[in-house]
Amino acid sequence: MKFIDEFRDQALVQDLARRLGTLASSPATVMEVCGTHTMAAARFGLKSLLPPGVELISGPGCPVCVTDQSDLDAFLALGLEPGVVLVSFGDMLRVPGSHTSLEGLRAQGAEVRVVYSPLDAVELARATPEKHLVFFGVGFETTMPATALAIQTAARYGLDNFSVCCVHKTMPAALKALLSSGEVRVSGLLCPGHVTTIIGTRAFDFIPAEFGLPCAVTGFEPVDMLLGIESILRQMKEGKALVDNVYTRAVRVPANPKARELLAAVFAPDDATWRGLGVIQGSGVRIREPYARFDAQARFPQVWEGLTPPPPSPCRCGEVLRGVLRPVECPLFAGTCTPAQPLGPCMVSTEGACAAAYRYER
Ligand code: SF4
Repeated sequence: MKFIDEFRDQALVQDLARRLGTLASSPATVMEVCGTHTMAAARFGLKSLLPPGVELISGPGCPVCVTDQSDLDAFLALGLEPGVVLVSFGDMLRVPGSHTSLEGLRAQGAEVRVVYSPLDAVELARATPEKHLVFFGVGFETTMPATALAIQTAARYGLDNFSVCCVHKTMPAALKALLSSGEVRVSGLLCPGHVTTIIGTRAFDFIPAEFGLPCAVTGFEPVDMLLGIESILRQMKEGKALVDNVYTRAVRVPANPKARELLAAVFAPDDATWRGLGVIQGSGVRIREPYARFDAQARFPQVWEGLTPPPPSPCRCGEVLRGVLRPVECPLFAGTCTPAQPLGPCMVSTEGACAAAYRYER
């Protein structure tokens, strides 16, 4: 309860914590799928409000963390091409690649720009026609529409000096792969509210239907997350398993039609490689043919041809992302690996489980 004074509605939180205590009839492991949930749970000390035997663990929902090392290495290698400017969101800057990071590359003289939106990258391309701007398209269904819009905008401007290194991923396929592996045993899942605003709640119907697990679509305030955990514990107690939407102020049952239309126009389903999970069929996207000139891999095939497999790393982010290793169980946690000297993305990302544990739970 140490962070209780940060909650906006202490009475509601305390009431929810009491209700969780009455619902927890058996041990439960609830996976918070999203990195934003991971950071919110740590920041607000939510684990201290859970009844004994109820555990919250992180899943594969931090977009920076699940970006595979080989994809990051490819993007970094693009920065060595003449005239190329790398453009990325800021949380990717310090993530260690096999040999360097974006920050390290910048220190070596490469041009690396940080943006808040892919559309900023398009504007940068317009302003610097003598350079080729490559945007690192990372993230789930939440960020994908903005990348699609940037590609369409670049097409409308007739730009020939903008492309996307597209490693976007889709959440349901990864969850299915994770649950099918049987490696991690969970009692229920907190599904990400922002992703669900795009794909709709039905995208998660397979979780109760195929795996018999309850889930709750939640927002990111402490009360939202506690309501989600309450829903899962209630479903468990009543022997039910369904997708409960407790984030009704933002999430609707059907998918967002405009976003879906935009995504379908620009992207086609494809396989993707996830850190810790490997290649998952249909869990990614590629840029469709009408927009192929904005595909960095098609523009710079020599970069991908010249890549070598990443060397072995002592970092165990893959296990953290699969929910089979708690950050504090990594022997390097807070010793060799710290936010100042991160060995893996989970320690450097603003949504990383190791970063959250280091900052708030040590
Ligand atoms: Fe990787 Fe560091 Fe996390 Fe260990 S503590 S899994 S080395 S990021």
